[in-house]
Amino acid sequence: MNSPGLVDSFAILSKLPLPVMVLKSSSGDVLFMNDKFRDVFGYSEKDIKTEQDWWPRAFPDEQYRLRLEHEWERRVRMATAAAGEMEPLEAVAKCKDGRDCAIRKHLSVHGGLFIITMVDISDQKYLQREYEQLASTDALTGLSNRRAFFTMLDQALALANRHSRPLSILIADIDHFKAVNDTYGHQAGDAVLEHFSRIILRTLRTSDTAARIGGEEFAILLPETDKDGAYRLADRMRIIISENVCYHERQPIQITVSVGLACYSGPNIGQKFSCDAFLRLADDALYRSKREGRNRVSTAELRIP
Ligand code: GH3
Ligand code: MG
Ligand code: MG
Repeated sequence: MNSPGLVDSFAILSKLPLPVMVLKSSSGDVLFMNDKFRDVFGYSEKDIKTEQDWWPRAFPDEQYRLRLEHEWERRVRMATAAAGEMEPLEAVAKCKDGRDCAIRKHLSVHGGLFIITMVDISDQKYLQREYEQLASTDALTGLSNRRAFFTMLDQALALANRHSRPLSILIADIDHFKAVNDTYGHQAGDAVLEHFSRIILRTLRTSDTAARIGGEEFAILLPETDKDGAYRLADRMRIIISENVCYHERQPIQITVSVGLACYSGPNIGQKFSCDAFLRLADDALYRSKREGRNRVSTAELRIP
């Protein structure tokens, strides 16, 4: 048992608004745990008598735990050598009631004691995810925005290149959309954009990603899809668009779409190819669709010198 004198000297920490645990550095024995620690995680001194009780309870996934323990030990060595504080470690800990809690774990070394403070950063992580989601989403349609699309295309192209896998992209542009705005008003135009987005989402597989990359211009990323597969999907989408009238305030509005398709596959696979060049190719195909009368799909061949 610990000496009452030592535990008394931690009384100052007991009402701190942050979870704090004090360990004996040589053995990992828990010498003290404050009220906030018990409130946040639900564990008591009975559950966690030593540091070895904490790890498997807070991080039941073995792979995750081993990685964190390794990181933590590295920091402990650094903090011990420097006899001070260390760079905090961020992790998601399991509470006693099964909840996940995002924490930032700090260590201070004082003589033979480890003072561990665990800041609950769940709210901060939640907000961060919300902001990231907002920053990558188009407000009108809920699809990914242009920036998010470029990031995904960059990753998908690198992956397709590394593993010599096919990848296709489509650029779809609504035909004579200016006339929709001019005839029915801007709100009707917005309703058409939403209608168009819903059809795209219904047509795609879960591995495909649709984005609004301009006013009435959409891009679709089709991983693991060759030219024939992408053409079939694009043409099906084109037909569904032309057959599904959009109703805005009881007013039927019919639209068509022109599509440009670029595919990364066949004999060129494995060659370095930039996002910009790939998109330019799909854009060229789109403009061919427009020139040749709209409401059609054109394909651009990838030629690498
Ligand atoms: P094309 O068949 O050649 O594509 O003709 P278009 O009329 O679709 O093309 P153009 O580029 O001339 O016009 C696009 C129009 O899209 C012009 C712009 O006012 C409208 N637009 C862009 N963003 C929005 C939006 O968020 N809402 C609405 N309602 N209209 C938009
Ligand atoms: Mg257009
Ligand atoms: Mg356009």
